[in-house]
Amino acid sequence: MARYTGPKCRICRREGGKLFLKGDRCYTDKCAFERRAYAPGDHGKARKKPSDYALQLREKQKVRKMYGILEGQFRRYFEEAERRKGITGTNLLMLLETRIDNVAYKLGFANSRSQARQMVRHGLFSLNGRRVNVPSIQMKSGDVLEVRDRTKKNLVITEALEVVARRGVPAWLEIDAPAFKGSVKALPTREDITFPMTEQLIVELYSK
Ligand code: SF4
Repeated sequence: MARYTGPKCRICRREGGKLFLKGDRCYTDKCAFERRAYAPGDHGKARKKPSDYALQLREKQKVRKMYGILEGQFRRYFEEAERRKGITGTNLLMLLETRIDNVAYKLGFANSRSQARQMVRHGLFSLNGRRVNVPSIQMKSGDVLEVRDRTKKNLVITEALEVVARRGVPAWLEIDAPAFKGSVKALPTREDITFPMTEQLIVELYSK
C-alpha cells in the first residue's frame, strides 16, 4: 500500500506547525520546526496573505499528513463522515482518531503514528484476542488492543510506554502498561482531541 516516504520535518514546516511525526525527536531542540519555523524552499520566508482556499487546503493537508493518510483514502473518510449523523467535521476527526494505528500510538505502543502503522502491518498487535495487520481498522468502545506475546520484549515498545507514562493517555483510552494492553473506554468526543485543528475548513474545501 502506498505511503509518503519523503522528509517528515518538511511537512511540519510546510503546514506551519509541529505535527509530531518523528517521535522523541519532536520534543527536543533538534526539531527542525523549532530551528526553522518557516516554509521550506527558496520563498519559504516570503510573507503573503493566504487566500480562503489556501487556508482550507493547508488545513486539510495538515490533518491528512498528521494521520499519514493519502488523498484518496482521506476523501473516503470525508464521504463516510458526511453519511453519518452529526457534524461532518467532528465525524471526520472521530474516524481518524479511532483508527487502530492512531490508538496504538496514543496508548504509547509506538513513538509515532507511522511507527504504529508499521507495527500493525507487521502483525505485532491483537485486537480483542485476534491478530490484526490492517492499520485502518476502526476501533470501537470496549475494544482491547494488546501487544502480542512474542513482541513484548520489543525495546521500542517498552521505551515508548515509558514516554507515554510520563505524558499520559487521552481520557477515552485506558492503558495497562505492565500487561502491554490498552482499551477504548468510550468513543472520543471533539473535546478529547486537543491538537489544534479547524475541521470546518476541511468541510468547506470538500463542499465546493
Ligand atoms: Fe515536525 Fe519537529 Fe517532529 Fe520534525 S522533529 S516531525 S519538524 S515536530
